[in-house]
Amino acid sequence: MGSVAQDTVLAALGQLCPGGVHPNEPLARHVTFRIGGPADVLVLPRSLDHLVAAVAWAYREGQPFVILGRGSNVLIADRGVRGVVIKTGRGQDEVRYHGGRVIAGCGASLPHLSRATATRGLAGLEFAAGIPGSVGGGVAMNAGAHGCSMAGVVRRARVLTPAGERTWSLDELRFHYRQSRLQQEPGVVLDAELELRETDPRACLARLEAWLRTRSDTQPLGPPSSGCIFRNPAGDHAGRLIDTSGGKGMRVGGATVSDRHANYILNTGDATAADVLTLIAQVRAQVRDRSGIDLEPEVKLIGEFEPSG
Ligand SMILES: Cc1cc2nc3c(=O)[nH]c(=O)nc-3n(C[C@H](O)[C@H](O)[C@H](O)COP(=O)(O)OP(=O)(O)OC[C@H]3O[C@@H](n4cnc5c(N)ncnc54)[C@H](O)[C@@H]3O)c2cc1C
Repeated sequence: MGSVAQDTVLAALGQLCPGGVHPNEPLARHVTFRIGGPADVLVLPRSLDHLVAAVAWAYREGQPFVILGRGSNVLIADRGVRGVVIKTGRGQDEVRYHGGRVIAGCGASLPHLSRATATRGLAGLEFAAGIPGSVGGGVAMNAGAHGCSMAGVVRRARVLTPAGERTWSLDELRFHYRQSRLQQEPGVVLDAELELRETDPRACLARLEAWLRTRSDTQPLGPPSSGCIFRNPAGDHAGRLIDTSGGKGMRVGGATVSDRHANYILNTGDATAADVLTLIAQVRAQVRDRSGIDLEPEVKLIGEFEPSG
């Protein structure tokens, strides 16, 4: 339980986040893969103030914690997470509009925000309509699709760091392909300021719908998954490499490589994190043998994995 006893953690967080503290909570319920054991303590803060209080407390007490948004890019260990998990969401989803400048809370849903901005004739976020993450997770991952990414629309983000609240500019966020500074040093995105272009709502919505159609034609959107499992290597696509190595349909336990898009691993109902990890290792070895390319996982592994995994 990290460095502080569980009773102390529950008492402290219970005071700071009333109604939002859940001991021994199965995380499978809280992530899109529907896989994962319990967190010792799951915190679902009911407001931005509660989120700030919980994170500031954890930094101050040296209590390790994991921050989650929608849990759409993670694989949680079967044994779960020892310590504290803080998940953003409804209490942190306020969005403020100032012309093309949009300030979105970390818990705001990317698909909702994408549609809301397009409907107002604010162009730039249409690419995110099919990315089932949060604004905080989208910034941390530099989520992107259709040749666009968060780096193209985020101007700055308010981040709670162990040294206090900071505003990181676009440069300071150090965005690269599916990378940001949030993956290199501790920090919790509280909100992000986006700069969108004011234009005709019909054009924005048409683009958004066209991109959603492309996704539903090419990606498996039904069964639980965590989106693309591997990062695309420079100049190629992980999905193409997996497909040409014969990876489609490979299966371990309840986890299978999608027939529709080979960079998706699906949970067919009873997949464990161990199944997914074994399948990742097999797919990776097959691609390495066939093309010499070592694919790197994009999905974040969180929690207490077996030493061999
Ligand atoms: C069906 C499907 C389709 C997808 N399609 C795409 C796609 O087209 N493009 C794409 O890029 N991704 C895609 N994804 C992956 C995923 O949706 C994105 O990476 C998304 O940005 C993750 O957001 P999240 O809120 O779910 O983050 P989580 O999965 O909860 O967390 C991901 C990482 O971000 C960190 N994080 C979360 N919130 C914060 C915060 N407030 N502050 C700091 N760090 C934080 C977490 O600690 C973790 O390291 C897809 C996933 C699924 C299931």
